[in-house]
Amino acid sequence: MTFKMLTTGYCLADESHVLRGGRRGVSVQCPARAALFEHPQGRILFDTGYAATHLFAAASRFPYKLYLRATPVFTSPEESLMAQLSREGIAPNAIHAIIVSHFHADHIAGLKDFPCAHFIASAEGLWEVQNRRGFGALKRAFLPELLPTDFAERATLLEYFTGPELAPFGPTHDLFGDGLLRLVRLPGHARGQLGLFAQTSRGTVFLVADAAYCRQAIRENRPPHPITNLFTDKGAAVCATLAKLHAFAAAHPEVLLYPTHCTETDP
Ligand SMILES: [Zn+2]
Repeated sequence: MTFKMLTTGYCLADESHVLRGGRRGVSVQCPARAALFEHPQGRILFDTGYAATHLFAAASRFPYKLYLRATPVFTSPEESLMAQLSREGIAPNAIHAIIVSHFHADHIAGLKDFPCAHFIASAEGLWEVQNRRGFGALKRAFLPELLPTDFAERATLLEYFTGPELAPFGPTHDLFGDGLLRLVRLPGHARGQLGLFAQTSRGTVFLVADAAYCRQAIRENRPPHPITNLFTDKGAAVCATLAKLHAFAAAHPEVLLYPTHCTETDP
């Protein structure tokens, strides 16, 4: 199974916010990435990153425009996942399924570009945001207009994982029963956040979504600044999940970890 990361633009964040002890007043670029897997059952996406047309429309009105004030976004229509895939000859309807790690705007902005795709998401993750509007949505970095109106009908909503344990993250959910794509829970950053453990032609990779903002945070076990708790689900769980990732990375140096917003290139 081949695998590829695609960057759909970036936002600027203060280094001290994404990494405890980081430099204050120094802006760092946080790319919004998505992954494409060529699984034998079909093409699978992990998140969709930014999609300028949808994102800027969804954030055009108050209070949603405050989202772009909090995280200035730099992206263009040509950088959307749909446009990048089209340039590679992959039409939107050639995407079989999209795994939604969580419902923050920088992960779901491109969902509407794939009208035939099936969705795989956490049930509690969806329930947490789907009826929120205004500041209630904004506080969860959720822009309601980005969610396709038929999302629930097209989705497999996961509640309980019953597959073999992946220590220290608990039970897994094997998407196709072949061990190639296994979901784990990474609580804290967003309700029901999902990570993806994948066996690829480049070895084992672990997409950790926003459980850490960069590999350095995992290596050094440095959580984000508490100010980011304004948008996150449970601050204590962010630290607990990061500590597990830190331990896992130390015990499994052969596994490549991919935080969505990390700028580090592969070793
Ligand atoms: Zn997030």
